[in-house]
Amino acid sequence: MTAPPSFASLGLGASLVRATAELGWEAPTPVQARVVPAALAGGDVWAQAPTGSGKTASFVLPLLERLAAGPARSTRDVSALILAPTRELAAQIGEVVEALSRSLERRLVTRVVFGGVSINPQMMALRGGADVVIATPGRLLDLSSKNAVALGRVSTLILDEADRLLDQGFADELDAILALVPSRRQTLLFSATLPSGVEGLARAALRDPTRVDVRPVAEDAPDIRQRAIAVDAPRRTQLLRHLLESEPSPSVLVFVATTYATEHVARKLRGLGVPAAALHGKRSQGARTQALADFQRGKVRVLVATDVAARGLDVSGLSMVVNYDLPRAAADYLHRIGRTGRAGATGVAVSFVTAEARAHFRLIQRRHGLDLPREVVPGFEPTQDEVVVTSTDGTGGVKGRRKSKKDKLREAAARERE
Ligand code: AMP
Repeated sequence: MTAPPSFASLGLGASLVRATAELGWEAPTPVQARVVPAALAGGDVWAQAPTGSGKTASFVLPLLERLAAGPARSTRDVSALILAPTRELAAQIGEVVEALSRSLERRLVTRVVFGGVSINPQMMALRGGADVVIATPGRLLDLSSKNAVALGRVSTLILDEADRLLDQGFADELDAILALVPSRRQTLLFSATLPSGVEGLARAALRDPTRVDVRPVAEDAPDIRQRAIAVDAPRRTQLLRHLLESEPSPSVLVFVATTYATEHVARKLRGLGVPAAALHGKRSQGARTQALADFQRGKVRVLVATDVAARGLDVSGLSMVVNYDLPRAAADYLHRIGRTGRAGATGVAVSFVTAEARAHFRLIQRRHGLDLPREVVPGFEPTQDEVVVTSTDGTGGVKGRRKSKKDKLREAAARERE
């Protein structure tokens, strides 16, 4: 058997190898083992890797290696640009860059910029240019339109969570940014899923990329124990409290469908004596940062969040994820459960399956090749029958099984033939 790769064997220099050791990382994760050598060689990379796979370091490490060894940039220039869909993810990437670059002899300037906060300090911070700029697309374009950031010398462009960038409606901004950076550059694109928009973006942005695919099949994620519990919708908060009492999970991330529900469920939990906070996009940046910090420090045990707000969250020791509401998109199921059981730790992912959501949960399971036993917790036995959601046009469509445009066209054609 060949020896598993070490960080040094991937081609990284001694300083960065030491930095990984200082973070307690014993060996590269699969995505790092594949992406680091390809990126160090200077080529483009197209990686399908979810959060939790160690993808951030897989692009930060080779980037820092190349920047540390490369020529000094001139003032005002930006050497590397990392785009992320949310402020939280941008901030987290910034932290990884800071942590890994501390060991380098050359001091690299890193700037993180995102919307929702005053633009002036960001303009000031960018005055001398930067080795690495980590940005959300909208704010980056605002800065560019004010001539506060010069992108004409970017040699490496990294698109992180490209599927989310597109989901959040950043397609036009991405096009505009691609037009601002030089066409001769290295580009790395990361995405957890590959909807057609991402394929198009990859075609536009990448040149002859190395393809890397380290998607976990849900069943192959042995460190995440997945559970499905049948429960009546009105009893979910009580069931959640029961689980919190019976599971020794220090920090729990609860997913709900709406902004309103984050506040509502967090309030109900607090009423039951459970320290809980809500995280959603409509809270101010300060309030979001505070909620996250309280959660990370263990002051708040439960964070109730929407998908968007939780995107890119990296909380160490997160031992349980609860789908209080199921994700609307099946792909988000993996994103959500991947928040726990990260980098070798064990985790539990619990989905509450109400009568209304049963058909939808079947769909999610089918999509991921799962067949989880539906558990019933004593004291929380469901009393409601499966609800078949019928649509108003009488087609009897169940959510996710609604007739597609193609189906309707096919039916119309069949009617004409009759
Ligand atoms: P990411 O997929 O980039 O969000 O990373 C998920 C988590 O894995 C982060 O908490 C990293 O600090 C951690 N991590 C990244 N690489 C390694 C590694 N090689 N060994 C152990 N933990 C790692």
